[in-house]
Amino acid sequence: MAGANPLAGYNIEWWGSPCFTAGRAIPWDHYTPHHVAGFGIPTFPWERQASSTFSVHGLRIIQHVSADNSPWTEGNYYANASAETCEHVNAWGEPDWGLLEQTFDTGARLCASRLIARGQRTAIYTGFADHANIYQHRDLGLQGFSAATRCPGEWFRANFTRWLNLVNQYLNAYYNPAPLPPPVEFEWKQWATPSVMKCIANPTNLFNFNTGEVIKAFNLDDQIVIFGEGRRKDRNEWFYMTEYSFTQKITNGFKSGSLAGIILHPEIEPAPEPEIPEIIPEPETPSTPIPAVLVWKQWDEPKKMVCHSVPTCLWDFDKTSFDDFTTPILEFWPGDVLDIYGECHNETLDMTFYLTEWSFTRNLTNGFRAIDLEDIPEEVLDPDQEIFEPEPDIPVDPIEPEPIKPEKPELPIETEKKGGEESEYPNWFVNFWIKLFKAILGIFKKSN
Ligand SMILES: [Zn+2]
Repeated sequence: MAGANPLAGYNIEWWGSPCFTAGRAIPWDHYTPHHVAGFGIPTFPWERQASSTFSVHGLRIIQHVSADNSPWTEGNYYANASAETCEHVNAWGEPDWGLLEQTFDTGARLCASRLIARGQRTAIYTGFADHANIYQHRDLGLQGFSAATRCPGEWFRANFTRWLNLVNQYLNAYYNPAPLPPPVEFEWKQWATPSVMKCIANPTNLFNFNTGEVIKAFNLDDQIVIFGEGRRKDRNEWFYMTEYSFTQKITNGFKSGSLAGIILHPEIEPAPEPEIPEIIPEPETPSTPIPAVLVWKQWDEPKKMVCHSVPTCLWDFDKTSFDDFTTPILEFWPGDVLDIYGECHNETLDMTFYLTEWSFTRNLTNGFRAIDLEDIPEEVLDPDQEIFEPEPDIPVDPIEPEPIKPEKPELPIETEKKGGEESEYPNWFVNFWIKLFKAILGIFKKSN
C-alpha cells in the first residue's frame, strides 16, 4: 500500500528536447542530480547537443526527455544510457554554486518519485562503488568517464548527505503507510496590473513564505514592482510577489503590511511661482510620467554570455511599467552568444539588464534581461554544461589533467551524436558565431 506521493501538488511541465538517444543501450541503474551552473531553467535545442531528463527550479519541475530514452547529460554514452538526470537551477554562483532550499527540496521529491517509479526503496550514494543508485557527475569525471567537472557544485556536494536523507524521507513516507501531514499547498493571485510599492520599514524583509527564512532585506523607501500575491493555504497571510518569483513559483514575498502602494504618475509640482494673479483652471495637461531610475555599472571585464530564454529579447528598458515591454528591438535564441560589457539596474522596476559595449558606451537603454542570459565561461571550463566536444584549445578544469576515455569493451561503442563529428569545431560553436555576426550586423543597421 502506497503512502504519500512525494510530488503531490506538483506539475511536471514538458519542454521536449531533440537531444537524446532513443531507448536505452543498457538498463537504467542510476539517477544523477546535476546543477545548471546558471540561473535559469535550461533549454536544450539541437545546437546545444546536451539535455537532461528533468530540470527543477523553485517549485517548478520541467521534463525535457522521456524517462524511456537516454538523456545527454553525463558526457558518457553508458552513463547516459543508464541514467535519469536532473538539472538544478543555481541561486548563486561562485564560490560554491548554491541552490534555493526550495529547489533542493523539489529536487529531492522528484528523485524520490523517480526511484519509486524504478521500484527502488532507498537512495544510495557511494561515490562510485557498485549498488549505488545515485551518482554525482563529478565522480564520473574523476573516474575518467567524462571530462572533469565541479558538478553538482561545492554547495550541493557539501549538502549531499542532507539531500539524500531528504530523498529517503520521501521514500519512507511513500513506502510506509503511516499517515503523514498533508503536503503544503499554495494559492496564487495575479494582480490585474503590476504596481510599484515601497518599503515602509527599515529593513523590509523578503521572506520565503514556505520555509519562513529571510531571503533579502530591503531599506526604507526602496521601490519594488509587485506582480501578484501568494500564500500557503494553511496560513492566513498573503505575501506580495515580484514577477520573477510569481512566474517561477518561487515562494518569496513581502508581508502584505510591509509595503505601501505609491502613485506611479504623481503630478509634478511646478516650482512655486511668485505672484500668481489668479487661479487658472488647469487646461488638461497630460501628466508627465516619472522617469525610470537607472543605475549604470560597467563590469570589470566584458564577458561572453549565452541566451537561454525563448526568445531572448533586446529591450529598450527605459520604462516604468511592465506593460510598456511590448515590442523588442531584436530577438535572439538559446545558444546565441553575446559580448556583455556592463549592466543597468532599472530601480523603478527592480530589474537588471545586461548591455553590449555599443549600448553601454552610448548610454543607449537597450539591454537584455539578466535572467535571459547565462555565463559562458563556466560552460566552457566546467564540462557540467554537457558540451560533448570540448573546444580543442581551451583546457578543461585542472582537477583532472586529462579526461580518459571509458573502457567498456563488452558493448559496441557508438557515438551518441548525429552529424557534425568530422568538423573541427562543434556545431553549436560555429552556429553561435554565425548568429552573433548576424546580430551585430542587425544592431549596426538599427543604429545607423
Ligand atoms: Zn552535471
